Amino acid sequence: MLVVLLVTGWTGTLRDWSYEGATQHYFFAVFLYVLMFSLIAKALSIPFDIFGFRLERQYHLSNQRIRSWIWDECKGWMVSLVLGTIMVELVYAIIRIAPERWWIIAWAVFVGLFLLMAQLAPVLLLPIFYKFEPLANEELGDRLTRLGERAGTRVRGVYEWKLSEKTTNANAALTGMGATRRIILSDTLLQNYSGDEIEAILAHELGHHVRKHILKSILLQVGVTLLGFWLINVVLRFVIAKEWFPVLDPRLYDFANLPLIVLVATVLGFLLMPALNAISRQHEREADLYAWENTPAIEPFITSMQKLADQNLAEREPNKFVEWLFHSHPSIGKRVAAAQAWAREREPQPVAP
Ligand SMILES: [Zn+2]
Repeated sequence: MLVVLLVTGWTGTLRDWSYEGATQHYFFAVFLYVLMFSLIAKALSIPFDIFGFRLERQYHLSNQRIRSWIWDECKGWMVSLVLGTIMVELVYAIIRIAPERWWIIAWAVFVGLFLLMAQLAPVLLLPIFYKFEPLANEELGDRLTRLGERAGTRVRGVYEWKLSEKTTNANAALTGMGATRRIILSDTLLQNYSGDEIEAILAHELGHHVRKHILKSILLQVGVTLLGFWLINVVLRFVIAKEWFPVLDPRLYDFANLPLIVLVATVLGFLLMPALNAISRQHEREADLYAWENTPAIEPFITSMQKLADQNLAEREPNKFVEWLFHSHPSIGKRVAAAQAWAREREPQPVAP
């Protein structure tokens, strides 16, 4: 879609329509362009979305009704339109104010936006799609809060995440920052896992906190974003100087170049994916190690991994290349084998109870 818009010059047509619709008002025209852009992208992705939904229904991973699914898709599209509009308006406003140094300023503004979103996501974005309730099981809640205290994190509440009305998958996470830092446990997890197993899963999540993975991921994201904005600036200037796409105006604030910006960001994201996933898998291994060291026994970790693999239909031994390219977590087979190896190593010196 991005290449077609640029090569055919249709992006220029969309820009001209936007100016007409907005009676030449620049920022309203940018919004109309983003609106048309996002409608075209959504229309093209609908067949893939339906395919994905039917696949999940077929394997009983999803138990969502079609109307509820369509409503979720609409909400997802609207959220992405709002966030996309804010980001694109900001970028072009900055380009207009500082055409030379725009990419550094945009980077600084986006970093601030990321930090804000990381805080707001659990209270603002997740509730658009899911219901949350404070955890009813007080004993489990206390146990998890204590686990959190030992890990040195101030957890501001444990919440039950109502996943079962949509999916049979189980999940758990430590989300948010500062005052929104919370543990969320899916009801599908609470129904099928023992207290020991949930503790093992939570210990893994807290391992991410203790090893400062959230901070490291944010710093990494900040670096990648800087690289991205620098590269977008370089490519935009190069492509416009070479007149590869004559429809683009040499002035960078011509928002018809949006497909080119998105294209550079997408290609960069794809090229960096193996490296970012390798870092993520390393973080996951460190969090697993923390979980083994901070729970009384290794068995609940192993049984919870096996239950999760069965419930989520995870591939226990994925193709090596697929794992290298796409997987943010090591395969369940590797995680269980590593846990067993760790436990075996410790066998000769049993820890006193
Ligand atoms: Zn993890």
